[in-house]
Amino acid sequence: MTFSDDEIERYARHLVLAEVGGPGQQRLRAARVGLVGLGGVGAPAALYLAAAGVGTLRLIDDDTVALSNLQRQIAFSGADVGRPKVEAGAANLTALNPHVAVEAVAERLEAANASRLLAGCDVVIDGTDDFASRFAINAVCVAAGAPLVSGALGRWSGQVSVFTGRPCYRCLVPDAPPDADTCARVGVIGALAGVIGAMTALEAVKLITGAGEALTGRLLIYDGLAGTARTVVVAADPACAVCAAG
Ligand SMILES: [Zn+2]
Repeated sequence: MTFSDDEIERYARHLVLAEVGGPGQQRLRAARVGLVGLGGVGAPAALYLAAAGVGTLRLIDDDTVALSNLQRQIAFSGADVGRPKVEAGAANLTALNPHVAVEAVAERLEAANASRLLAGCDVVIDGTDDFASRFAINAVCVAAGAPLVSGALGRWSGQVSVFTGRPCYRCLVPDAPPDADTCARVGVIGALAGVIGAMTALEAVKLITGAGEALTGRLLIYDGLAGTARTVVVAADPACAVCAAG
């Protein structure tokens, strides 16, 4: 399929990149990315994926926009407070790029519905903040063979990783920590959401276009206070309940 004049101008900076070009932009347009959780990670990721011309974005979140979200979730504006996040997100993403189809799913992802909600997604971005959802998303992605981009943040630091089968997210986090921090409790610096959210979008674009080296099997840890980043290798857990053989 050819691009319209509008698309050629819109994606001009992608089209001149050797690693994207016309074929890469075609792959982006043909792709469906599932975003679970339109929060600090998912909201900025959705903006960049829409701007990049990912053909279909499936937004999955059952929350409404709160005033306290606007400090970092810049996919929403003051007029959106009280609206379902997926509804406000769909309107704002379509305004940014009308070539993108947005599937708004106002449901809470759980183990029981994860397979149905993520069906047909070529890449999944996990921006949820609870381990039950993260485990459910990981299990579906491993079973479906769908690449999973995982992002998390709190206070001044964040992490990004990509899982394509084995090792999986559960190899990294075998069990939910008993007393996990939440941004509501410990706080988070707003611009960090942009850093980590955009990194997850970038990893999704790399997975779709085949550009560069995705963070597969590696965990990138960004320390916003120090201004440093490091990557560590994620080892496959021989006893992993999800991806270990048998
Ligand atoms: Zn595993």
